[in-house]
Amino acid sequence: MRKITVAKGDGIGPEIMDATLEILFAAGAKIEIEEIEVGEKVYLAGNTAGIASESWDTIRRNKIFLKAPITTPQGGGYKSLNVTTRKFLGLYSNVRPCMSLHPFVKTKHPVMDLVIIRENEEDLYAGIEHQQTDEVVQCLKLISRPGCEKIVRYAFEYAKQQNRKKVTCFTKDNIMKQTDGLFHQVFDEIAEEYPEIENEHWIIDIGAAKMADTPEAFDVIVMPNLYGDVLSDVAAQITGSVGLAGSANIGEECAMFEAIHGSAPRRAGQNLANPSGLLQGAVMMLNHIGETEAAEKIQNAWLKTLEDGIHTYDIFEEGSSKQKVGTKEFAQAVIANLGQKPSILKPVSYANNSALNLPKYKKRPAANKKLVGVDIFVHWNGVNPDEIAENLKKIGENGIELTMITNRGIKVWPDGFSETFCTDHWRCRFKPNNGAIFTKQNINELLKNAIDENIDTIKTENLYEFDGVRGYSLGQGQ
Ligand code: NAD
Repeated sequence: MRKITVAKGDGIGPEIMDATLEILFAAGAKIEIEEIEVGEKVYLAGNTAGIASESWDTIRRNKIFLKAPITTPQGGGYKSLNVTTRKFLGLYSNVRPCMSLHPFVKTKHPVMDLVIIRENEEDLYAGIEHQQTDEVVQCLKLISRPGCEKIVRYAFEYAKQQNRKKVTCFTKDNIMKQTDGLFHQVFDEIAEEYPEIENEHWIIDIGAAKMADTPEAFDVIVMPNLYGDVLSDVAAQITGSVGLAGSANIGEECAMFEAIHGSAPRRAGQNLANPSGLLQGAVMMLNHIGETEAAEKIQNAWLKTLEDGIHTYDIFEEGSSKQKVGTKEFAQAVIANLGQKPSILKPVSYANNSALNLPKYKKRPAANKKLVGVDIFVHWNGVNPDEIAENLKKIGENGIELTMITNRGIKVWPDGFSETFCTDHWRCRFKPNNGAIFTKQNINELLKNAIDENIDTIKTENLYEFDGVRGYSLGQGQ
């Protein structure tokens, strides 16, 4: 018996969880549940995290967490339990299968069957933000090699296990050459280890357009956090209903499974909600813990039930659906179909699912890191870049020179355009002339001289080369 943690959540949560668990037990899943309370009640009792510390102990002990949707109260500094859980438990991979159930669920994309694998921990979601000047705020986009390696390997291993043919990577590395560039580079490196699986890369903008228009062109798509957040909702929606999709959040130790939709409070307590999304999350959970037999039985019975036209209100269509049912009756229909297979929709087979091979990240030997200059960011209210350049030139000494100024990334000095709009946030690059040695002592001197010249420095970024390769971007137009 595998012990799993269950939270029934808020709104429609308890109803869809009861329905899901009933199906799981009827299918003979060898699980034992330990229930915890999370969500609205806990938030409103004054716990801004929405979860008690004893509940964390339960989740960490059992490692597998099946969670119904919860209501995050508006305002009041309540933290999203989803984001906290993903980060605390290191759930780096978010897996969302999005499949059309044509002709049983209405969709413009009848042959769509793709899986979005979203990096779940880093990117702009590190949430490191600062206001730097009157006019400019920033959010740090952090992408790490371990983060990329883990998620890209997960995508290929998942494709291999699920017998999928292609993995596509979406990034914007034509613009973000360092961050998205690293994601793309790691994708290319790891793709080589899976020659039996086709691989391709799309720039996210045209890739997203293609996915919304011709989703059948894709199979597994892996991408950084923010793009995945947006596109996984788009992909689920265009299959026909968000009420049908489940999601897995996978980490090295723990995993959390859920529906993609929220707690739909207006539908709560009326035996109306579709339990399919949570059930799909639960099927992924059973596969994850090796209960493939029960997972397969449930998935085929669920497909058969939809095919029989037994539908909850959200997917019920006069004419094509046969019977409008509530949450409980839908669950009973799935249970009655256990052991059967769909005849028009494709039945699933998980019997030969091998375990994913996900080795722990191995640190690489450190590169030869060389400091070659510094970007000093300055808050200045003037408008003429030549003026700030004259001031900044005064702070360079011992062969350290001002080489460039950009404003929001666009080079404005030397040889800027008078048309370029400038804010009060200036990035000023200093480097030694004639390739002389540059040290942190030089940075200290520059900053000290800036104080003497009344220049308002707000931050610095060191410019490094790693094994001789430039580790910073050039200014646009440089
Ligand atoms: P929602 O997904 O709860 O509901 C949107 C609409 O979709 C509902 O009004 C309903 O018509 C329909 N719907 C959703 N799930 C359904 C189901 N299973 N069966 C039938 N119809 C269904 O989104 P919302 O109204 O924006 O959010 C409500 C609450 O849920 C908010 O408090 C939000 O913070 C929370 N939420 C939680 C999660 C989570 O816990 N994972 C995710 C999203 C939203």
